[in-house]
Amino acid sequence: MKPIVHIPASPTGRPQPILTTPTKPVIAFDKKLKKIISDMKATLLHATKPKGVGLAAPQIGIPLQLFLTRPTPKDPIRVFINPTIVCLDSTKPNADKTNQLEGCLSIPGIWGTVNRSPKLTIRFQDETGKTIEENISGFLATIVQHEIDHLQGILFTQRVLEQKNKFYQATKDEKGKETLEEVVI
Ligand code: ZN
Repeated sequence: MKPIVHIPASPTGRPQPILTTPTKPVIAFDKKLKKIISDMKATLLHATKPKGVGLAAPQIGIPLQLFLTRPTPKDPIRVFINPTIVCLDSTKPNADKTNQLEGCLSIPGIWGTVNRSPKLTIRFQDETGKTIEENISGFLATIVQHEIDHLQGILFTQRVLEQKNKFYQATKDEKGKETLEEVVI
């Protein structure tokens, strides 16, 4: 398990550059890569606040094109290496279902609505280096777009701002129940 890089978290108050810098392709499918993947898996499994559904390598300080997904605790963790978007379905970018509240392990406590494409086709490599092309839809499509953004140094908060959407933060009401409250950041 590795500590997750948060933003803004540097002692100087500036955002951690690792989170806003585009990553480099994975070239060697070796022991070192295996170790990074196993560290990332452990980190994702231990992330409970908020619950982790995906994790990109720069979030543990590694500038490589690599991310994991796990839409629900029942799903196996999947590994995506050197992903590229082959085709993005943008026919209904504003459909209600795609207007989802997103959060990020690197930005704890903040949520925001982001319009994502409901479907996409990506090409990526698996842990062995095999190239795979896959059509992805539903919640996994949202996670994959969020994680590919991470690999390009883009945080979901930037998407929220670009789309002029709203931010929310989790707060507790008088009864101690968690609710979401709109915030301006
Ligand atoms: Zn994230």
